[in-house]
Amino acid sequence: MKCPFCNNPDTKVVDSRSQEENSAIRRRRVCEKCGKRFTTYERVDTIPITVIKSDNTREIFDKNKLINGMMKSCNKRPVTMNQIEAIADDIENTVMNRLEKEVDSKELGNMVMDRLKEVDEVAYVRFASVYRQFKDINTFMDELEKLLKEKNRI
Ligand SMILES: [Zn+2]
Repeated sequence: MKCPFCNNPDTKVVDSRSQEENSAIRRRRVCEKCGKRFTTYERVDTIPITVIKSDNTREIFDKNKLINGMMKSCNKRPVTMNQIEAIADDIENTVMNRLEKEVDSKELGNMVMDRLKEVDEVAYVRFASVYRQFKDINTFMDELEKLLKEKNRI
């Protein structure tokens, strides 16, 4: 932690204690160069993730929306609720662990598609057709072809 008075990069913690029922840790620091003291607070990062939608509006990331979207694609498919939840959890963790607090809805959709593809191909194609909003039958066929090629490689 840099000293706010002289910008010296070496400061020492002289005291630390929990605050606000352990939701924050308060540290007293002393600058080893100018000797001034200052306080820092360390707390869990709870800034919510924002999703940027295709029309450029923003909304708070909502795991339930991912789950609902996948449930629709998995209708009558052999995909369990546990699998759907695991995919949503995995995506949530991935997004939360990044430094940026914004994620493109397209990118989110791709993350779902990558994971659904592993679980059930029909669900994947259904999800892809909604998410990518296939402009015409050709893009849809491209997607199917890609999928078949990948399958044949295995
Ligand atoms: Zn200093």
